[in-house]
Amino acid sequence: MVLGSPGVGKGTYTSDLVKKLKLIHISSGDIFRDNIKRETKLGKEVEEFIAEGKLVPDKITIPLMEKRLTEKDCQKGFVLDGFPRNVSQAEAMEKLDPLDLVLNFKANHEVIMGRLGGRIICRQCSHIFHLINLPPKKKGVCDACGGELYQRDDDKPEAIEKRLKLYEDQTLPLIKFYSEKGLLKEVLVNEDYSTHKKVIQAKIMKAIKG
Ligand code: ATP
Ligand code: MG
Repeated sequence: MVLGSPGVGKGTYTSDLVKKLKLIHISSGDIFRDNIKRETKLGKEVEEFIAEGKLVPDKITIPLMEKRLTEKDCQKGFVLDGFPRNVSQAEAMEKLDPLDLVLNFKANHEVIMGRLGGRIICRQCSHIFHLINLPPKKKGVCDACGGELYQRDDDKPEAIEKRLKLYEDQTLPLIKFYSEKGLLKEVLVNEDYSTHKKVIQAKIMKAIKG
């Protein structure tokens, strides 16, 4: 599982990592955004929480993720991104399938604010870009699938502040939870990923193997 502040780059590193390790990337945020886009019942239920930068209630999130993680494609192994996000989700995960390793990504506050402010993502395939750090080849168009790039509602300044506060209150306790189990590995990621991809990837592999 990958842990770390919103905007630290979990989604970006994980999508490359899973290709290398032949695992699958399970991002709770991507699952929610996909449902919102398709206007499903779940999408309608969660839309408001997400746009406001709040957490989706556990009674929706936990059963959804339990169902997703028991699907067949997960049997070969997966990297979780965005779940568990609080202690009760972590406890639910312990019952379902205890994690093997938790990577805790850390970067300075200014770095995180810069990453969140400029992030744009693909409406179609969720690929992540950044206006300055990781720009697409063609403005507004996804390199991977040609889809439309947009700024997430929750990457607007009002929501960013709330998400960072929520992270501190609800998700930081997971650091203690997993370090007590001996599962936590720290990875410092202040470098820019577009110019220092190899450096960050090497740190990640070292943490996984170490
Ligand atoms: P980043 O994409 O930079 O990692 P983030 O962690 O805030 O930032 P996502 O993981 O994509 O973004 O989640 C977006 C939103 O989806 C959250 O703000 C929250 O509303 C909802 N969400 C995602 N995962 C969960 C979860 N496990 N429990 C509750 N709500 C969730
Ligand atoms: Mg993410």
